[in-house]
Amino acid sequence: MVEDNSKDFTEIQAQWVTVRGRIRQKIGDAQFKSWIKIISLKECVDGKIILSVPSAFIRTRIIEQYLDIIKSYWLVQNLKVNDIEIVITEDNKAKISENSSSEIKKAETKNKDHYKQDDIFNSISSDLDTRFTFSNFIVGKPNELAFAAARRVAESKDVPFNPLFLYGGVGLGKTHLMHAIAHEIKKRKPLRRVIYMSAEKFMYYFIKALRFKNTVAFKEQFRNVDVLMIDDVQFISGKDSTQEEFFHTFNALIDQNKQLIISADKSPQDLEGIEERMRSRLGWGLVADIHPLTYELRLGILQAKEEKLTASIPPNILEFLAHKITSNVRELEGALNRLSAFSSLVGREINIDMVQDLLKDLLKSSQRKVNIEEIQKKVSQHFNVKMSDMSSSRRSRTIARPRQIAMYLSKNLTSRSLPEIGRRFGNRDHTTVIHAVKKVEELRNKDDSFDEDVQLLIRMLES
Ligand code: ADP
Ligand code: MG
Repeated sequence: MVEDNSKDFTEIQAQWVTVRGRIRQKIGDAQFKSWIKIISLKECVDGKIILSVPSAFIRTRIIEQYLDIIKSYWLVQNLKVNDIEIVITEDNKAKISENSSSEIKKAETKNKDHYKQDDIFNSISSDLDTRFTFSNFIVGKPNELAFAAARRVAESKDVPFNPLFLYGGVGLGKTHLMHAIAHEIKKRKPLRRVIYMSAEKFMYYFIKALRFKNTVAFKEQFRNVDVLMIDDVQFISGKDSTQEEFFHTFNALIDQNKQLIISADKSPQDLEGIEERMRSRLGWGLVADIHPLTYELRLGILQAKEEKLTASIPPNILEFLAHKITSNVRELEGALNRLSAFSSLVGREINIDMVQDLLKDLLKSSQRKVNIEEIQKKVSQHFNVKMSDMSSSRRSRTIARPRQIAMYLSKNLTSRSLPEIGRRFGNRDHTTVIHAVKKVEELRNKDDSFDEDVQLLIRMLES
């Protein structure tokens, strides 16, 4: 529990009480007692709430059925909450045997038989997020290759390429695609043994096995799977013995023609602290990267997610978000959730001003810092004038107009003062800058194609 943030945490606790109350009203006493009462609030770190439950089974059920309402009720209480995670707590075990209702016990026994044969696999494989399916994945240019490759692996009878190596920056959908593959395989071929785990967890199990001197059993576990997915292998780099083990397991699986799927934040060539032989072997199959999102894909994702919300968000706001939040899908989702919670709270449509206020932090962090030099460069390229003309004294319209646009953009996209901007444009006076800004504003209002040009420049500079 967080000690130093105890005041904040007290507030979070109070919110939890309210959230539970609301849920109780919504789902009724019986369901509440079975599923919600057993959840305990563990901590809150950077806006992420961590709840704990006594078993993996309960966790899965809660994620499937209740996580969304917990999230939305909590957001209404506190807009700063950006995520809710449910973990399984060991010391809750005692509590469950005293407290758990017969419904859970019944459900658990029923499930036990089903799972028995695959006990080991399920116990080491991490839980899959039920929302991370192929049908919930929006495809665009930046991720079409990764998506197609993932589908192929999930649908093939044999092993189409080995390994499938997915890489890309944070929040671009690597984990989503891996879970989607696992869901699809489980649906098509329930008997295939699929293990999904983070590289960190792999390491943890391996170190534990080393300590208990049962690395043989460890290896056997992995060697009996049909599909092994290891997420975020960049975290394995550096740890020699784990890497060694990973390498052996990896080779053994490939030799047996078992499907491997690996993800990382970089390509095999660029992964640091990984042995050469490992690096080259990782690149043997298909390497598919997810590129940074384009405006179109960001908008597409927002539109798809918006449809699933209860509150509706106007199209111009979605465009605004797609324009401003460029970093990754996680942030887009976060923004959307906050807006939807807010709009259902105030009960009216959201406008841009509200958005700017509500999402101040997100908008600031994803705003790319543009400087005057970049602006001058882009503008001169765009209008085909010399960069030096940005500061020259030439006054012909073909040169003066682009220069004015560059001044205008410098005023709007950077935090530089008017005199400073003037200085950077060939020591001009700040009144010249004011004049340029006014002129460009006037032209943007009057002339649509001029306005489009300026918008295009802004987009290019900000992305
Ligand atoms: P990564 O593992 O690459 O860091 P995740 O797979 O965890 O990223 O994705 C972050 C969030 O964004 C998840 O909630 C995921 O569902 C969502 N997401 C990512 N890409 C897409 C997409 N193309 N369509 C829909 N949702 C996406
Ligand atoms: Mg991930």
